[in-house]
Amino acid sequence: MKGLFRWMFRMFIVGAAIAGLLIVFMLNPQILYAHTKTYKSISIFSKYQCPGRFNAIIDQSLDLISYSELYDSSFRFRLFLNDGSVFPTVSKTILGNAFAWGYSNNIVLNGTTDSSFGFISLNGYKRQLARTIAHEMMHCLQANRFGIFGSRPLKNIPYWKWEGYPEYISYRSSVHYNEDSLLIVNLGRLDSFKNHSYAPVEVDTDEGKSFAGLDYFRWWLMVKYCIDIKKMSFADMLKNEVGYEAIYTEMINWYANHRYSFSPPSGP
Ligand SMILES: [Zn+2]
Repeated sequence: MKGLFRWMFRMFIVGAAIAGLLIVFMLNPQILYAHTKTYKSISIFSKYQCPGRFNAIIDQSLDLISYSELYDSSFRFRLFLNDGSVFPTVSKTILGNAFAWGYSNNIVLNGTTDSSFGFISLNGYKRQLARTIAHEMMHCLQANRFGIFGSRPLKNIPYWKWEGYPEYISYRSSVHYNEDSLLIVNLGRLDSFKNHSYAPVEVDTDEGKSFAGLDYFRWWLMVKYCIDIKKMSFADMLKNEVGYEAIYTEMINWYANHRYSFSPPSGP
C-alpha cells in the first residue's frame, strides 16, 4: 500500500511538472518565431519579416480598443503571426480551433491572412483582421482589469457578456457613422435567423462585411444594445441581475419599435 501511495505521489509530481511546463510554454512561445519587431505597444513575432504595411492593421486595432473602458495604455501586447510557425497547430490542439486566441499578453493568429492583411480566413469564412486582433486584445484587457480569478474560464461569467463585449469594441464604427442604424440593420439580419440555432452570419460593419457565428452575432448585438441604447458600462453589464432572457426580449421589442425609424447606413 505504501508503495502504491509513493507511486501515485510521483505520478502527481510528474503530471504537475508537465502541466507547469506546458503553461510556461503557452505563455512564452516566442522561441518558435524567428523575427520580432516592435510597433507602438505591440511586439510582433513572425517566421518571416513582418511587412511594414501590417502597421496600419495595428493602428486600426489600437484605435478600436482605445474606446473601451478597459483600455490601458501601459499594457504591452505580444502578437504572433501565423506565417509558418508550428505554434498555432500546437495551440489548436490545446485551445480548440479558432480564428485567433487572446490570453495573458498574447494574441495568437491561427487563420490565414491575405497579402493585404484585410482579412483572416478559417474554414472558408473571412473576418476583418484588424477587428479580430482587437477582439483578442480585449480578452487580454478583460483579464488585465478583472484578474485571472475574475475572468473566464476561472470565473463563470456568461458567454454573451464575455464574448459579446470584445465583439462590441471590435465592430465599433468610425466616428461619423450612425451606430444606431448599424444596430438596426444587423438586428434585421438577426431576425432573419430567428429559426436557426447555428448559422454563419455576414456581419455588416462600416467597412463592409465580416463574419461571426450566430451566437457571437447575437451576443454582439445584445451588448451593443446594452451599451449604446441603455447606456450601460461593461462593469454594469457584469452584474448578475443583467440576465440574458430579459435583455434579449427587451432588444427584440426595441427593434420592433425602431426598425423603420433609421435609414440604412451609407458608405462602403
Ligand atoms: Zn473571444
